[in-house]
Amino acid sequence: IQWTEGRGWHDARLQPYAPLQLDPANMTLHYAQSIFEGLKAYRQPDGSVKVFRPDANARRFQRSARRMAMPELPVETFIEACDLLVTQDKAWVPGGGEASLYLRPFMFATEVGLGVRPANQYTFMVIASPAASYFPGGVKPVSVWLSEEYVRAAPGGTGEAKCAGNYAASLVAQAEAAEQGCDQVVWLDAVERRYIEEMGGMNLYFVHGSGADARIVTPELTGTLLPGITRDSLLRIAADLGYETGETRITTDEWRAGNADGSISEVFACGTAAVITPVGEVKSARGEWKVGDGGAGEITMRLREALLAIQTGQAEDKHGWMHTLGS
Ligand code: PMP
Repeated sequence: IQWTEGRGWHDARLQPYAPLQLDPANMTLHYAQSIFEGLKAYRQPDGSVKVFRPDANARRFQRSARRMAMPELPVETFIEACDLLVTQDKAWVPGGGEASLYLRPFMFATEVGLGVRPANQYTFMVIASPAASYFPGGVKPVSVWLSEEYVRAAPGGTGEAKCAGNYAASLVAQAEAAEQGCDQVVWLDAVERRYIEEMGGMNLYFVHGSGADARIVTPELTGTLLPGITRDSLLRIAADLGYETGETRITTDEWRAGNADGSISEVFACGTAAVITPVGEVKSARGEWKVGDGGAGEITMRLREALLAIQTGQAEDKHGWMHTLGS
């Protein structure tokens, strides 16, 4: 679908996957007006296919567009485009376990020009790729590196938007994490470098206490972290399961002390790709420690199963999150 100033959205079409031709002065290449989303379609027990919360992705896409001075795509158009692509060939939505079809809607500037200003032409597209289970050999905890040198987002910046530049800026920190022997980077706030924000491409959760009295807490949305749709879903699922939940700021020292005295029993990350990933080990310039016994926690796995059960149609969709194609 194209957008042109003065004309709005036009020329929606479905076409075979093929390379794009880009002018060397395409404004996206120079000024990075580029935003995207990630969501999944899951096969249901009756063979039909449903998409998890596309309306939430569509709204986040609109917020990203506003931040990047790009036009907003109507929510219905976003959902229709995803549905149309999935409907082309339902056979390409894998079934069984956690398998899904990953959808990647995105928008970028198509105007040709070298002046720095919002472009007057954009393209919105959706591509897709079948996704197997993220952990074919069973859920495996990750190790994380607390990055004190690099920050992902500063107040007033683009941290809340799902824009391409945020990911470009994060690559060097991810490489630093790998050099430290860690799987993922954890971002701290830009101002004091002590509040936990999020992990590479996932939000974080901390489990205080254990059993039915556990309190499940995630860093609050301060404007510098991505408002994850999995994060939002888990706040509600955790409450459904009877846990107390909260959104508060947490410092690196509180994390470390909580693991040392056992008051923080589990830590996990969540996002569309892996659903939930336990965090087993933490490393920073000021030392390293284990989370619990370093394995996948009981509450972490319970929440993971509860969310996947809704997505794969094994449990009742009481929040109305599963979207029927074409509805
Ligand atoms: N934070 C970042 C930086 C991400 O890229 C993602 C993945 N979209 C998330 C968090 C998790 O968001 P969601 O649950 O919507 O996939």
